[in-house]
Amino acid sequence: MVCFLLIFSYRGMRKVKGVMFFDMQYMILVMLPALVLAGIASLMVKVTFNRYSRVRCYSGLTGAQAAERMLRTSGVFDVKVEETGGFLSDHYDPTKKVLRLSPGVYESQSLSAVGVACHEAGHALQHADQYVPLVLRTVLVPVTNISSMLAFYVVAAGFMFRPLLYVGCAMFAVAFLFSVVTLPVEWDASARAKQHLVNTGIVSPGQEIEAGRVLNAAFLTYVAGAVGSLLTLLYYLMRAGIIGGGRDRD
Ligand SMILES: [Zn+2]
Repeated sequence: MVCFLLIFSYRGMRKVKGVMFFDMQYMILVMLPALVLAGIASLMVKVTFNRYSRVRCYSGLTGAQAAERMLRTSGVFDVKVEETGGFLSDHYDPTKKVLRLSPGVYESQSLSAVGVACHEAGHALQHADQYVPLVLRTVLVPVTNISSMLAFYVVAAGFMFRPLLYVGCAMFAVAFLFSVVTLPVEWDASARAKQHLVNTGIVSPGQEIEAGRVLNAAFLTYVAGAVGSLLTLLYYLMRAGIIGGGRDRD
């Protein structure tokens, strides 16, 4: 019995090591393309943001004023706009109904600042409208947090006890679903921001495209996240033999 357990755990540990630590196939097929894509997207955000941080918007409003105006003209009066620390740490907190803007956005009159500030205000408007993809995304947050934390361990355990492999794949599927649902949420927040920037004259018609570039670059980071999540899911579906016909032998 002891021998059986030792052999079982030795074989299992080889699988665990193969999956989690020494899996070159995983590094090359999944990690490398995902990291390269995420790196390119993040670089594009920084370059574009810095570039248009030096261009003053037509109206001369700061990011905070632009966001405030967008919220109030859309009939939202219970969301506060506050300054927070960090670089590009801007976000909308739906639990406290607070829009937090980084110093480079809050006080700046640049195209980048009003673009990012109005994008975050766009999330607050989605919240007020109960925009369906945002509601779905909020529901998925706790499930995704748990899945992201445990999926690799569950998959690794699945190479010793196969049913767990399918549970692990389901966890990666949840993470992928979350990244997909995030796309319309982000796209819609930017669309609302662009529309408001132009309609209220915060940017001139000529500046519309430039302000849009900052938001488009930010959107790319979410696309990169979704692609990385898809690659991870496909990889483990193949390893589990659910797609592609191959299957790791026990
Ligand atoms: Zn956003």
